[in-house]
Amino acid sequence: MGIEVNFEGKVALVTGASSGLGARFAKVLAMAGAQVVLASRRIDLLKELRAEIEAEGGAAHVVALDVTDYGSIKSAIAHAETEAGAIDILINNAGVASHQRLVDVTPEDYAYVMDTNQRGAFFVAQEAAKRMILRSKGDPKKQHRIINIASAAGLRALPDLGLYSMSKASVIHMTKSMAVEWGKFGINVNAICPGYIGTDINMDFFNSEQGLELIDTLPRKRIGKPEDLDGLLLLLAAEESHFINGAIMSADDGMSAC
Ligand code: NAD
Repeated sequence: MGIEVNFEGKVALVTGASSGLGARFAKVLAMAGAQVVLASRRIDLLKELRAEIEAEGGAAHVVALDVTDYGSIKSAIAHAETEAGAIDILINNAGVASHQRLVDVTPEDYAYVMDTNQRGAFFVAQEAAKRMILRSKGDPKKQHRIINIASAAGLRALPDLGLYSMSKASVIHMTKSMAVEWGKFGINVNAICPGYIGTDINMDFFNSEQGLELIDTLPRKRIGKPEDLDGLLLLLAAEESHFINGAIMSADDGMSAC
């Protein structure tokens, strides 16, 4: 006798799936049996990922999405549901970072970070939730998941990442507000706060002298790999986690514990 986490019959939409964590999240959910919808701006990369997933026996679809464009969000989610069926699981992952002191932030920097990480994440979740709520009214037992990708930077202020930290703190509070409002519709909304994981967003920095110095200050003097988040992703996406709602969960190798 055993428990097996199985996502067969589930549709999962992953934003920002063209690289880094998003690409990994999509692969993991596909490997666990979900049909995945890969959504981002770089369609060529998404098509490559779709081919990789299909080569391993998984099912994937590609949709164009720019989370800074409200019209694009609405059409991407409609397109995803036409192609793959009703979205059960949303991985709200698309994000950008920018490094500067707060005194140097320009209105352009502010719009760049907030329009993607805060406004974009909000309207993606809202558009998916509107459809989930309608379905839950027809079938009150239906379970949905929204997993917002926040950051360790949303829990503590990191040097030269003030603007990014502010955007991710907003994602954390957004997660709680959504959990409170949408929980009664069978939508569990939780956030993952990754620590430093090597991806396109930061590899230049971690290869620099300053980056190596920072790694030296971490509890285990290492950064993570995208697959280090597999366990938490599967936990929060699974039906078995129906009692976890509004949780802000760190996967940061102990970074936020010290
Ligand atoms: P990444 O740069 O590899 O991935 C970001 C993804 O978001 C890319 O696919 C990019 O195309 C997409 N994206 C950006 N703007 C978009 C837009 N307007 N519309 C649609 N897609 C857009 O970096 P990553 O590390 O994989 O980041 C993924 C998420 O994880 C981000 O939200 C990031 O803030 C968060 N995060 C990353 C780390 C880390 O150390 N890598 C730590 C904490 C949180």
